[in-house]
Amino acid sequence: MAISVAIVGAGPAGFYTVEALLDRSEEVSIDILERLPTPYGLVRAGVAPDHQSTKQVVRKFEQTALARMVHFYGNVEVGRDVTIDELLAAYDAVVIAAGSPNDRMLGIPGEHLAGVYGSSAFVGWYNGHPDFRDLEPQLSSSVVVVGNGNVALDVARVLVKTREEMAASDIPDYALEDIARADIGAVHVLGRRGPTDTHFAPAEMRELTRLADCAPSVDPADLPPAEGDDDKVLALLRRFAGQPAGERRRRLKFRFFLAPEAIVGETRVEGLRCRRTRVEDGRVVTTDDVVDLPCGMVVTAIGYRASPIPGVPFDDQHGRVQSDDGRIVPGLYAVGWAKRGPTGVIGSNKPDGIQCAEQILGDLDTRAASGDRPGRQALERLLDERHIRFVTLDDWRRIDQEEVTRADQPAPRRKFTSFAEMLAVVGVAHRHRLG
Ligand code: NAP
Repeated sequence: MAISVAIVGAGPAGFYTVEALLDRSEEVSIDILERLPTPYGLVRAGVAPDHQSTKQVVRKFEQTALARMVHFYGNVEVGRDVTIDELLAAYDAVVIAAGSPNDRMLGIPGEHLAGVYGSSAFVGWYNGHPDFRDLEPQLSSSVVVVGNGNVALDVARVLVKTREEMAASDIPDYALEDIARADIGAVHVLGRRGPTDTHFAPAEMRELTRLADCAPSVDPADLPPAEGDDDKVLALLRRFAGQPAGERRRRLKFRFFLAPEAIVGETRVEGLRCRRTRVEDGRVVTTDDVVDLPCGMVVTAIGYRASPIPGVPFDDQHGRVQSDDGRIVPGLYAVGWAKRGPTGVIGSNKPDGIQCAEQILGDLDTRAASGDRPGRQALERLLDERHIRFVTLDDWRRIDQEEVTRADQPAPRRKFTSFAEMLAVVGVAHRHRLG
């Protein structure tokens, strides 16, 4: 009899695990449970809308999802619609692949002022994620993005690109309009360390050299003396330091050695107060030097935390599932950002998936009566009893097709951005979602 596996989360980590299981066993039945009606997790709602080539990885995931042994259950939230204990009773193995959807906080005064957004919320908003489409961010002509990782670069780039530069993206109309209306003049990308300590990818930095109406800039005083051994990112930052803005109206300013101390304002953001820093033996040391950056919006891009799921041990300090290299107990596993924390690119999840598949298959003997659990049958009975209309792979393909059909060229798709819209496409009334 086939072994049954439930994967919680339909993002890259979940799909690489499915792929690895299919590669290793012909006797496996896999169900992917996803809270949203749509699959592909961060590829759909995290990867920037102007990075369509990165999103092509879904073609591979789609092939995986089409395998006879794999079923998709969208619009099902584990922990609310079904519990982990119910899944553990029904399946031979359960894999948590639910990512890290929550923003880390700076933990400074003023963080709750209007006009302050975490990158999970802000990126979700400009990517049409149903949880954030109603964010209504208070965009401003001057924005500070805190963090020196690729997410900070994504946010900054989307804010400074012109309407024409976004034409071939799948950014929702509401976000495109709001950003255009804000007429953003300056985006400050803030690092608490220096130009040699960033997490920027060279390819993301190179894109900034091709912006139509924005000039990247760096204060030359922040750069280390030129010694001819620059890496690609530092070489680009040096180039930005020496470049005149010319005719371009917008500025993307890299501001280094600044640690946020408070977000200031009465009811909404009026500025960010920082301390100048220096880096000693890899540590950030703040100085007495206070620097105020006036701005009307702050986006923090400083990392993410997983959501605790009832029944799954949680490492609160690191904001991720508590596991022994992915194995929580035999039969229950974690992969991807839920396991590792928010590091690495899409492909980094592939080794996780392989390791998890091997753990599952290796542990089978240690779980009683493997292969005898009812799997899918039990899940569908539970969902049926609870009147939960799940979205199947065929349903998703209808939503997908409709999004592509209604797009205006050259946009690849026009996303549906609410549960109600998506479920209407597949002929289901939107169930009232509690809590
Ligand atoms: P990240 O690369 O870990 O960067 C987080 C940044 O936040 C770091 O610069 C960190 O500085 C800073 N930070 C943390 N706490 C801070 C604080 N209290 N005050 C000021 N700064 C603070 O994370 P990410 O940008 O969220 O990206 C997550 C992962 O997704 C990364 O692996 C990234 O490469 C990947 N990603 C890749 C792409 C792409 O390849 N195109 C696009 C998006 C995301 P310190 O160094 O000082 O801690």
